[in-house]
Amino acid sequence: MHQNLRNKYKAFYGLPEDVRFCKSCVISNQRPSSTVEFLHSPNEKKEVIEFDDNNLCSACQYHSVKEEIDWKHREEEMFKLCEEIKKNKKNKIQYDCVIPGSGGKDSAFTAHIIKYKYGLNPLTVTWAPHLYTDIGWKNFENWVHVGGFDNILFTPNGKLHRYLTKKAFENLLHPFQPFIIGQRIIGPLIAKQFNIPVVFYGENQAEYGNKISENNKNSMDDKFFSSVEDVNDLMLGGEKVSELIKNSNFKIEDFKPYIPLEKNFIKKNNIVVHYLGYYEKWDPQEVYYYASENTGFNPSPERTEGTYGRYSSIDDKIDMFHYYTTLIKFGLGRATYDAAQEIRNGKITKEEGQNLVKLYDQEFPKKYFKEFLDYISISEKEFFQIVDKFRSPHLWGKDINGEWKLRHTSSNDGLDD
Ligand SMILES: [Zn+2]
Repeated sequence: MHQNLRNKYKAFYGLPEDVRFCKSCVISNQRPSSTVEFLHSPNEKKEVIEFDDNNLCSACQYHSVKEEIDWKHREEEMFKLCEEIKKNKKNKIQYDCVIPGSGGKDSAFTAHIIKYKYGLNPLTVTWAPHLYTDIGWKNFENWVHVGGFDNILFTPNGKLHRYLTKKAFENLLHPFQPFIIGQRIIGPLIAKQFNIPVVFYGENQAEYGNKISENNKNSMDDKFFSSVEDVNDLMLGGEKVSELIKNSNFKIEDFKPYIPLEKNFIKKNNIVVHYLGYYEKWDPQEVYYYASENTGFNPSPERTEGTYGRYSSIDDKIDMFHYYTTLIKFGLGRATYDAAQEIRNGKITKEEGQNLVKLYDQEFPKKYFKEFLDYISISEKEFFQIVDKFRSPHLWGKDINGEWKLRHTSSNDGLDD
């Protein structure tokens, strides 16, 4: 390792200049926390995963904490909580909770367990993907029809959604930003609309790299949901909404589904946000088995580009480009995220994970490339010009053949390792 090279290159987005990899999994200290979705500009400082002095990432640290948890006790807590929720409701046929989700394995599991094990009556709500994959649509239908749930499918104005996706790609290299924002807001909004006091998510966002202390709470507060005091300050896709309006035919009211919640929305409206992962031990592979058995969830018929897995994030044709852009911005592609998680859960060894990362992490998503270019109306040439602008010099360099290479990898075979 050439220590002298490590600080030679500039780091974009306020990322740590010194690239370090977790000693236990394959994630690096460049992984942003979930607050990253509300970024306004590419240079705004990002909060990243914490590493301890022994180079253990916080997700791995939390994994050992998780092994110590008395899950039987947590289950009892959940039964008690559900009893409370039932007892406190004024109208017997009112919904007990909102469960936001797509019908992917996680939300399918969450909704099914909450309804059939814990006895609550949930209203599920879905923020539609940009472009449904066939398997994504089938899983969504199975969730509702096989699993047996009421669902509201919210589809945002497709013209505006495309426009924002294009802006977010060009300005932030984050084509998934509008989707993520909308999806995060929809749960509490529907809860308020239907007077439902509880929102249930599946996993705690903190588990994969936020502060460990956030894993010890059974609920999530307003911090998780972006808020805005003055709508004129609102930025989407890396531009001020007022500017977007000036340069387009859209009006402020068109942006309603993307406008973050008012300050302290959760608190003010007496909504409680829980996540099932606090009460039930969360293992993605077990969750997948459960969902296929109980809600007709199907994995993708073929391997997803950029990784080796077939059952995570398969609803949206844009999803592949989300992970491709995380590879460019943070040096972490989809295989890295999948392998890190499976190493922690003991499904694969670190070495196997490193090999999978080597094999798939940098695979270009060809399958929906043309559709993606059409969707955001740019040419192939423009696509790669934009992508290259976002390669941080501290992560990427060119080899002797002029090909882009990561300077540092988990396998320690990067350009500068
Ligand atoms: Zn780790």
